[in-house]
Amino acid sequence: MRTRQNESTMNKFYKINTYGCQMNVHESEKVAGILEEMGYLACPEGESADIIVFNTCCIRDTAERRALGNIGVVKAEKKTNPDLILAVFGCMTQQEGVADTIKNRYPYVDIVLGTRNIAMLKTEIEKVIRSRETKKKSDKKYRCFDRSMPTDYLEIDEKTPQTRTSFPNAWVNIIYGCNNFCTYCIVPYVRDRELSRDMSSVLDEVKKCVNDGYKEITLLGQNVNSYGNDIADKSVNFANLLKKIDEIEGDFRVRFMTSHPKDLSDEVIDAMANSKHICRNLHLPIQSGSDKVLKDMNRRYTREHYLDLITKLRSAMPDIGITTDIMVGFPTETEEDFEDTMGIVREVRYSNAFTFIYSPRKGTPAAKMEQIPYAVKQARIEKLIALQNSITKEISNDYINGVYRVLCEDFAEKHNGMVCGRTEGGRLVTFPGTADDIGKFFDVEITEARSASLFGKKKV
Ligand code: SF4
Repeated sequence: MRTRQNESTMNKFYKINTYGCQMNVHESEKVAGILEEMGYLACPEGESADIIVFNTCCIRDTAERRALGNIGVVKAEKKTNPDLILAVFGCMTQQEGVADTIKNRYPYVDIVLGTRNIAMLKTEIEKVIRSRETKKKSDKKYRCFDRSMPTDYLEIDEKTPQTRTSFPNAWVNIIYGCNNFCTYCIVPYVRDRELSRDMSSVLDEVKKCVNDGYKEITLLGQNVNSYGNDIADKSVNFANLLKKIDEIEGDFRVRFMTSHPKDLSDEVIDAMANSKHICRNLHLPIQSGSDKVLKDMNRRYTREHYLDLITKLRSAMPDIGITTDIMVGFPTETEEDFEDTMGIVREVRYSNAFTFIYSPRKGTPAAKMEQIPYAVKQARIEKLIALQNSITKEISNDYINGVYRVLCEDFAEKHNGMVCGRTEGGRLVTFPGTADDIGKFFDVEITEARSASLFGKKKV
């Protein structure tokens, strides 16, 4: 363990605490890139960090409370190490009033930035260090993205370095922000309107990932199907992007998320079905099976439209794995509406579903509606989870004795001597293996199914 006496001769370490979705994981890789370019190293286990960054999420109340709780915990660390730099950024800081809350309740935080200000991190850290060296009170500037800011803040930053942390998986953002304003969702307020990356920049990044040995590229966006809508050249769209990526040579896979059902086009389904690299796997959030609730959520599709998409997807790709997000307890959801959701789950038979209890987000229209008692929401989610688990188990059993191509991604948690990875359809498979297997494809014979997890052995 290093001591603080010989600090000046020691390496400087950083820690990043990431909350929320894959987009945040990806943005934390950019933060790591900036810090490493400044000479900081990832903090080894058991060491203390010189800079701690919180990349926050506000999609649900629990994520926000967890982040604030942990920022509170760091206060003690800051007391024993006053040179520690604390930075907070991400969706939570973009909400109205949150930067001020941090300033007042957590005055030991040095830097607060918004999701579109990551590139400013280096300058802000340098300012903190300079102000400490000159013993001046830190000139704290809480820079959070604000729609009244000059438009240069709305430009996509292609220069920020990136340290990828998820080999063999690489995350590539293709579109920022969201235009949809689902009534329960805070994202359009904290990540602003849609802004697509230039197609050639995306293609260059995917090619680089493939050349660097990454085997699974996930294209990210709040709504990937809107890619290109804000670009005048109409040939720039998601289907064409998929086709261009598919032309890249190499042994790699591509996934993408998230797809909005109102924007999933026949061209995208066609591009998936005719590709070599795009996985037969789609995450298509339904949220509710009730037309009335979908309307109140401002989702702008109907149950019928959604089921029509499922039919098209399955006739184009019979082996496609379809997953979804489902929210229960939206303010206007009645027992009958909830039964409609149960019905669509039975009908579609998702390979897996991410189920959530609706949590009001301040500033969204749904938060102002009359809320459903928590006990009702809890009872509904329990029923839904039980139904989905039984479907997942039945689907899992069908895998037994089959052989699937699996990308080995990591060691399996809680299983010594085992590794894990996903099938093309997105199912997690655990099998005997070693560190050498990570980043390689294997044909794996499935021997056992435990709910969502499959177990198997390499086919020789
Ligand atoms: S599509 Fe709806 S749920 Fe998804 S990020 Fe946009 S507003 Fe939120």
